[in-house]
Amino acid sequence: MHLGNYLGAVKNWVRLQHEFDTIVSIVDYHAITIAYEPEQLRQRRHDLAVTLLAAGIDPDVAALCVQSQVPEHTELAWILNTITPLGELERQTQFKEKSRQQESVAAGILNYPVLQAADILLYRADKVPVGEDQVQHLELSRVVARKWNALFGTPTGRRLEDGSEEREQFFPEPQPVLTPTPRVMGLDGKSKMSKSMGNTIGLLESPESIWAKLRPAVTDPKRIKKTDPGTPEVCNIYHLHKAFSTPATVEHVAVQCRTAGWGCIDCKKVLAESMETELVPIRRRAAELAAAPRRVDDALAAGAARCRALAHETMLAVRDRMGF
Ligand code: SF4
Repeated sequence: MHLGNYLGAVKNWVRLQHEFDTIVSIVDYHAITIAYEPEQLRQRRHDLAVTLLAAGIDPDVAALCVQSQVPEHTELAWILNTITPLGELERQTQFKEKSRQQESVAAGILNYPVLQAADILLYRADKVPVGEDQVQHLELSRVVARKWNALFGTPTGRRLEDGSEEREQFFPEPQPVLTPTPRVMGLDGKSKMSKSMGNTIGLLESPESIWAKLRPAVTDPKRIKKTDPGTPEVCNIYHLHKAFSTPATVEHVAVQCRTAGWGCIDCKKVLAESMETELVPIRRRAAELAAAPRRVDDALAAGAARCRALAHETMLAVRDRMGF
């Protein structure tokens, strides 16, 4: 997990878990739509659980589960596949991008959003915290929920304005929770922080390694000499300050930058200190969990049990309404 994932998503989930009944899922069935090594998959799943727990997902509050430990995900995905229009899937931006990059495209890439819809609808979730780029996938979940409800929802006996019979809305149409989150740019200052661009800082990286990346990171390109006044708004380091530093420090950074009161290295040193304040406890918790894998397994087992109970209930109703 890199800082872009943490600031853009996980930090938000940590807050939302106290406001909603929350399920956080490690989607290992999604992960196998690209080439992978089985042993690495096991390790990455465990490492991701460690990182989510260290970042603040509380297994006594949210259900943290591994998708493959709740088999109903794939059962519902198959059912939803049978009512999802092919055109809707072919229109998905991620499918178009991935199929352009590869000679041969697995059907799993095309059906990826259907499994996402199953992940959401299986728990009859009302809300899904998503980034702007995921809204299209969520819209597909809404389309599929609407379609399934119209086909298989139990008739209520009431007539709608158009004369058709109203049916129960068994699956709620999930709404996006678009919380303002910083768009975290990579250290190149040009593109979004992402592993494929090689411009990331890992959430659990050591302070030395973080500094080795921060030190040469791109800043305001017009600030060539220390005596040149800068424009903080165009600088990625300033945006990272807004994510990690106190409001007073952010203000101080802006003033120092605009008045050429300090150099970019001074500014980055302050950022590194602010980052440490937030990252030290996360690193410490991750080290404790890595030394006690049993605690991680227990958290995942408890999460899977909670999710399986909900999934079982949904699928009993789905199978019944569909004639199985
Ligand atoms: Fe960016 Fe700070 Fe340099 Fe200004 S002083 S350009 S905010 S790194």
